Amino acid sequence: MYPSRFEYVAPESVADAISVLAQHGDDAKVLAGGQSLIPLMKLRFAAPSVLVDVNGIEQLKGLEQSNGHLRIGALVRHKDCERSQLLQGRYGVLGSAAPQISDPIVRNLGTVCGSIAHADPQGDWGSALLAANARVVAEGPSGIREIPISEFFFGPFTTALQGAEIVTEVRVPDPGPRAGGAYLKLERKVGDFATAAAAVQVELDDAGTISRAGIALTAVGPTNVRAERAEQRLAGAEPSAEAFSEAARLAAEDAHPIADHRGDVEYKRNVVRVFVERGLAAAAAAAREGS
Ligand SMILES: Cc1cc2nc3c(=O)[nH]c(=O)nc-3n(C[C@H](O)[C@H](O)[C@H](O)COP(=O)(O)OP(=O)(O)OC[C@H]3O[C@@H](n4cnc5c(N)ncnc54)[C@H](O)[C@@H]3O)c2cc1C
Repeated sequence: MYPSRFEYVAPESVADAISVLAQHGDDAKVLAGGQSLIPLMKLRFAAPSVLVDVNGIEQLKGLEQSNGHLRIGALVRHKDCERSQLLQGRYGVLGSAAPQISDPIVRNLGTVCGSIAHADPQGDWGSALLAANARVVAEGPSGIREIPISEFFFGPFTTALQGAEIVTEVRVPDPGPRAGGAYLKLERKVGDFATAAAAVQVELDDAGTISRAGIALTAVGPTNVRAERAEQRLAGAEPSAEAFSEAARLAAEDAHPIADHRGDVEYKRNVVRVFVERGLAAAAAAAREGS
């Protein structure tokens, strides 16, 4: 099906984009990679009358480390993350998630920020960024604000973004050299959304004790789910098989999958348990190696 008729604008600055969005309210939509929005428009599940294409805004480019954090600009594509050396080592949870998103065609165009703005509970970036304790930078008519990613997702396809706000970048705090991460995803075939997936980051102190663990789950709740009890179980603990097993059990308990064509509830919960346990072991090993 063809999308409904729409007006297309391509502003060259964030200020101009916000001004068009503010002028048209709910009728206007940001267009980034188009990998979620265009299919929805073709199915006529979305029918914005104005598309605000942000791809020409220079300020939204850039994947770099500076001022104690990794900056992922709104035009950074999944494929940029897949290929970046920066996303290895201490940012390994992000580097591990990137190549598991869909297929090369989607990864060439889709953006990290578009993915979280879309807020699909099956989206992979939401979990990876929760595990990494990221912050979302949004700019709108009232100025710029930073939102912890743990407060960003309100429900399926619903976020903390307010009218005419644009996600300009995501900031991932530098976890230091003794950090590692992993993203484990079960998909029925290459290119599919997750049946269930787990994002894990482990940070060690100088004595080798876990100073912080970040654990988040994909496709097992109305949003990407932060497994807080599992994280708390690990803070200050030795990185042992017993601690990982206990944390994995807590994460599985806090998952709320629904039965569908990808599997039943107990199956998905068990995948979460196994993936969190495996992910913690892999992340701790990477953290010991350092970067
Ligand atoms: C076949 C297929 C398979 C896929 N498989 C996966 C998968 O396995 N895992 C996964 O995580 N994703 C998957 N996706 C989704 C893909 O990752 C999209 O790229 C992503 O969800 C949206 O990013 P985008 O840049 O394409 O955003 P767009 O489609 O351009 O926009 C999506 C929504 O976010 C809004 N938006 C975009 N950017 C911003 C911004 N900077 N500020 C405010 N609002 C914004 C738009 O207005 C729109 O509402 C798949 C998509 C397809 C088509």
